[in-house]
Amino acid sequence: MRVDEVVLDTGFVQRWLDEAAAQIHRNRDFLTQLDAAIGDADHGVNMDRGFSAARDGLVVGVPATPGALLDQAGATLVLRVGGAAGPLFGTALRRAAAALGEAEILDGETLLRAMRAGLDGIQRLGAAVEGDKTIVDAYAPAMLAFERGLRGGRDVSSAAVKASAAADAGARATVPMQARKGRASYLGPRSIGHQDPGATSTALLFAALAHAVGDRE
Ligand code: ADP
Ligand code: MG
Repeated sequence: MRVDEVVLDTGFVQRWLDEAAAQIHRNRDFLTQLDAAIGDADHGVNMDRGFSAARDGLVVGVPATPGALLDQAGATLVLRVGGAAGPLFGTALRRAAAALGEAEILDGETLLRAMRAGLDGIQRLGAAVEGDKTIVDAYAPAMLAFERGLRGGRDVSSAAVKASAAADAGARATVPMQARKGRASYLGPRSIGHQDPGATSTALLFAALAHAVGDRE
């Protein structure tokens, strides 16, 4: 890790959660519109409720380690988001938390392993693969870009910016796909031509990550 780089500690996870809640809140209506086209028009409202609750939990007290904080946030998402996305995102955070264990300070590789564990949790629970028009279509390319960034000698913040761009491109690439998982799959070919809501919120979560990693206090 370079000396000028941000410290990936509990404060970093807290900044990520704050920024994630803010980005989801700003995009609540957009996410709901996307879900109105191929689902039941609740994704923005669901995500906003859950991420606000996760952020507000920090007012009561912030757990001591990044893992404990992610685990608490994941449990809140499972309880408060609802729909398909709540258990999926909640599981991702809890699996990432388990991968971090008791670590107090993370490096890029540790963060990569934790995020990969999160993706693995989503795929075990939801059985979606790339191309199914889900969260996975933004999350998987983001992991590849983050890993390539780190292996290419980039610092964590540039790798996170690459991951965010890849998640965004991944979300946009869901437009021509036909949904094969979740509620949108009931529409069959009529799901083609619309951007997937869950992939879109995933891109927002990676944008929040890039913001939190880039924040030098
Ligand atoms: P619901 O469909 O129950 O109303 P949401 O609207 O909150 O839930 O979330 C819908 C999003 O969940 C979809 O846009 C899709 O990205 C994601 N999703 C649905 N099923 C799966 C799955 N099996 N694996 C990964 N993501 C999924
Ligand atoms: Mg929905």
